[in-house]
Amino acid sequence: MSPEEFRRHGHAVVDWVAGYMERVRALPVGPQVAPGEVRARLPAHPPEYGEPFEAVLADPDALVVPGLTNWQHPGFLAYFPASVSGPSILAELVSAGLGEQGMLWSTSPACTELETHVLDWLVELLALPDRFRSGGAGGGVIQDSASSSTLVALLAARERASGFRAAAEGADPRLVVYASDQAHSAAEKAARIAGLGTDRLRTVGVDDAFAMRPGHLAELLAADRAAGRVPCMVVATTGTTSSLAMDPLRPVGELCREHGAWLHVDAAMAGTAALCPEHRWIHDGLELADSYCFNPHKWMLVNFDCSAFWVADRSSLLRALSVLPEFLRNRASESGEVVDYRDWQVPLGRRFRALKLWATLRHYGAEGLRRHVRASVRLAAELAARLRSDPRFELAAPARLSLVCFRHRDGEDATRRLLERVNAGGRFLLTHTRLRDRFVVRVAIGNAATGAEDLERLWKLLDRLA
Ligand code: PLP
Repeated sequence: MSPEEFRRHGHAVVDWVAGYMERVRALPVGPQVAPGEVRARLPAHPPEYGEPFEAVLADPDALVVPGLTNWQHPGFLAYFPASVSGPSILAELVSAGLGEQGMLWSTSPACTELETHVLDWLVELLALPDRFRSGGAGGGVIQDSASSSTLVALLAARERASGFRAAAEGADPRLVVYASDQAHSAAEKAARIAGLGTDRLRTVGVDDAFAMRPGHLAELLAADRAAGRVPCMVVATTGTTSSLAMDPLRPVGELCREHGAWLHVDAAMAGTAALCPEHRWIHDGLELADSYCFNPHKWMLVNFDCSAFWVADRSSLLRALSVLPEFLRNRASESGEVVDYRDWQVPLGRRFRALKLWATLRHYGAEGLRRHVRASVRLAAELAARLRSDPRFELAAPARLSLVCFRHRDGEDATRRLLERVNAGGRFLLTHTRLRDRFVVRVAIGNAATGAEDLERLWKLLDRLA
């Protein structure tokens, strides 16, 4: 495809995406296909001969859109949002067009330096502790996901807790990891991948608001120490997946210091709220953390994938992950003056993700993004107030930020039936969780397209179906 042909087809593709944005509201939000149905429509064999791009561009409408769960639909209130925005999508296109590999500073100085810079911007915008900034011992990097952030945090923690011998000798069998029973399953996955195994992941109990109980953590840490085990890392969650519960970072961080454990803070969804000064309480005690992550790809209008991850001291991370084959040796790396992000992540290759963060921040500014956060929080608060004041419903957790968890007072069957009937209508997609072993409906707000009129419609639907 020549540049001139690319220009012509590119315009058509942008038109197609804009058209999808315009019509997504009219599509059913949830999937409308049975397992295997999408695949059954696809040609059995790969094409031997190419076709004009016009024919290829017909595929999304014919084959893809009918098989979508429409995550950008205004009625998508399931899981957590994977919000996108025009500037972010366009910057992704630029990144793809440049086709850079930013594994070393020397393989793409702009990719590396823009990333370092924009992560320092985020430290400022979210008022994160200064120790996460570049320039000193700490620094930030973009990972693909919060799961990868938890994993690399654990690899760094494992290195430090094993006296910097884990990279050479493997996991010390005495190491133990701690997370609350509300922590994301990524903590367990990381423990498995890092060679600790699920048996060495301790589950810390939570209080009435689903936040980690530091008293229980203290007991577990003391028992492990007494048994000759080594506390390696505590995963604290700022905004749990089920209910956006906030683990108390200060007492948890103090216990980590006392026992020499690494504190990783997972704020995948909730971290974006700290753009707004009134929500910064969620990070109280964060200066005690060794690492922190939040996902701009959830609530900050940056396309998946973009998980912002920081360490207070990068040395453990680099000792855990640096492997230097001859073919990557270069003068800039040897000078010690540059960052080589390949040493901060599992894969070697890395794409230019910083561009979409840059473009989103440049286009909306902090003020525009704060407006988006505040709008989501306001919509959630209004829905929570309605549910609270209606005798048919009860809130299943304190309504926090942009998430509302509720159930029908008639019990699990009624709650489940309500959820199924709402989703069957095709205008909203909600998901569930279990809190204290009770079935709970979650309403997770955060897509840019979701407005007050959508929540009004959702309320009317709940009112009619309850
Ligand atoms: N941590 C928390 C608190 C989450 O809510 C999620 C996803 O919802 C994750 C981690 C996993 O995110 P990712 O898909 O970026 O790995």
